[in-house]
Amino acid sequence: MVMLTLKLDDIPDEGLDLEWREDLPALSEYLETLSEIDFRFEAPLHSEAKIRKVGRSILIKGSVMATLRLQCVRCLKEYVYPITSPFEVILQPAREIDFPEEMDLSRDDLALDFFEGGELQLSEIACEQVFLEIPIQPLCQETCRGLCPHCGTDLNVSTCGCHEEALDSRFSRLKEWKLH
Ligand SMILES: [Zn+2]
Ligand SMILES: [Zn+2]
Repeated sequence: MVMLTLKLDDIPDEGLDLEWREDLPALSEYLETLSEIDFRFEAPLHSEAKIRKVGRSILIKGSVMATLRLQCVRCLKEYVYPITSPFEVILQPAREIDFPEEMDLSRDDLALDFFEGGELQLSEIACEQVFLEIPIQPLCQETCRGLCPHCGTDLNVSTCGCHEEALDSRFSRLKEWKLH
């Protein structure tokens, strides 16, 4: 598939402003190469970025706009989830992974990443930014009542006869909710 890569040599000293998009076939092909993916892109992924060399590192400031189709963990219905997310990453040449001890503290803050072979995989960087925005427990709505654990009735649309079980599940949902 055609994924956007950028050669370091093509970045002028004054930096580069880019805007690009990944279409659905390319995105689903990319997702297939990853494990444990339980969502789909619903629309093309739009990205824009300012790319600048800072010494031997590359600073990318940009934003991604995507629409995903996620599955609610409570009622198992699929729903559309729009994402607009600004991001900032610093990439370093992969061969220079040897950090001095004191760098460890700031690694997370900097969202430090690496590039190899003198190329930036811009499409992958954009996709990773989208992945970071996906909730660990996707919910179609905060108040989703989920399925009755006993008979499987979607409690958002109707009720069932399993009163006690339904009550239990409401308590466990409460616990679940408090954890977040
Ligand atoms: Zn739901
Ligand atoms: Zn029931």
